[in-house]
Amino acid sequence: MTPSRPFLGETTDREKAFPDIESLELTVAQDPYEHYARHAWQRESRFTKTDIPRRLGCLNPRCQQGGLDLEQIVLFSSPGKHSYYCNGHEGTPKERRKGDPCDNRFDVMLAVVRRPSRSGKVVRSKEQRLGYLRGKTTDGDEVVVSVAKIGRDYRIGYGHRDHLCPPSVRDMEGVKREALLVFHVRDAAFEPQ
Ligand SMILES: [Zn+2]
Repeated sequence: MTPSRPFLGETTDREKAFPDIESLELTVAQDPYEHYARHAWQRESRFTKTDIPRRLGCLNPRCQQGGLDLEQIVLFSSPGKHSYYCNGHEGTPKERRKGDPCDNRFDVMLAVVRRPSRSGKVVRSKEQRLGYLRGKTTDGDEVVVSVAKIGRDYRIGYGHRDHLCPPSVRDMEGVKREALLVFHVRDAAFEPQ
């Protein structure tokens, strides 16, 4: 991760902004206390690599300089569930002072399929994304492991780590055992894409 890589603020090309990411899915639910949005659908947003914007606006109508930097989350957060408080405030821009902090919160679920490292012999075009394993860490936190298939081999991704399963892994039960073994993710349930 180098902070000098081009950001969507400089390029609108998501391929350049996320060169190491094959595909992603980001779900954001905000306004958990139902203070701001009129309709429930306004609170939830879902993005993929093809339509992810740089930022997501805050639903608090009085919020200034708030919202969520989606690109930062994709680049620097580990896949799984996160909660972020809004960084905005309820000040008035005219008075040039900061008001009370915005109490909006964003609950994020991030799933990322990373491209194999350049040193790997993986043929990218043959890779097929299958879906996710939802499971738990040893601490009980809910996490997501991406599952892809390259030829007959399975590849799983968690955080910034990618793992190519050995040829002995030939079905989803084997993939779950591998996720437990390598990433210590237990009670995994497969969700097809
Ligand atoms: Zn806000």
